[in-house]
Amino acid sequence: MKVIIADKAGMCYGVKRAIDLALETSRHQQQVEALGPLVHNTQVTQRLEAQGIHEKDLESITPGSAVIIRSHGTGPETYQHLKEIGCQVVDGTCPFVSRVVQLGLEAITQGYDVWILGDKKHPEIQGYMAWLKDRCRIIADPQEIFLEKDLPEKIAIMAQTTENLDRLEQLSENVVKAGREPKVYNTICSASRERRQAAEALAAKVDLVLVIGSKHSANTA
Ligand code: SF4
Repeated sequence: MKVIIADKAGMCYGVKRAIDLALETSRHQQQVEALGPLVHNTQVTQRLEAQGIHEKDLESITPGSAVIIRSHGTGPETYQHLKEIGCQVVDGTCPFVSRVVQLGLEAITQGYDVWILGDKKHPEIQGYMAWLKDRCRIIADPQEIFLEKDLPEKIAIMAQTTENLDRLEQLSENVVKAGREPKVYNTICSASRERRQAAEALAAKVDLVLVIGSKHSANTA
């Protein structure tokens, strides 16, 4: 049996970056805590634990510790809380995620409502909701907008960084059909796009594709 590994496989740039920041911090800080899992990989998480980098939720963060924000990012209230309890914040938010927040804030100041295609339960999306507040709406399914009675005049469309481009295009087309001319930002990250393309290319030439990854990761699912 021949085993072929996809051209793009393994941890993405943003996750690697957050882990490197955590390891670097642990070299000169006693108490290092990660706000949530830095990666959905038990072996890597165990190795980080062994290096003294402990995963915590917000309620159990130790005041005064160095806290790594994971690549999904988090909302402004969390930064504020960590500052108030004397933590050193090490921001591992992926630049692709920070860009979505920045674009969303800019669009809102220009009078747009921001619609983001993605999963409301995903921490990345929860971070966007925390930054963009009531001017942000999360769309799970491009068809759901047809149920809307009062569409905002100005709509900016974005996507969770791991979304599928076809779905983003579908949402954009549907908004046009519903009578609005949306401003569309393709915020799907290059790491996610390249992995999807590599998986498709591989599937076209093999009998079976095995996806090795956590069910909790949006990149795997
Ligand atoms: S935005 Fe892309 S590169 Fe950044 S953490 Fe998410 S999947 Fe990885």
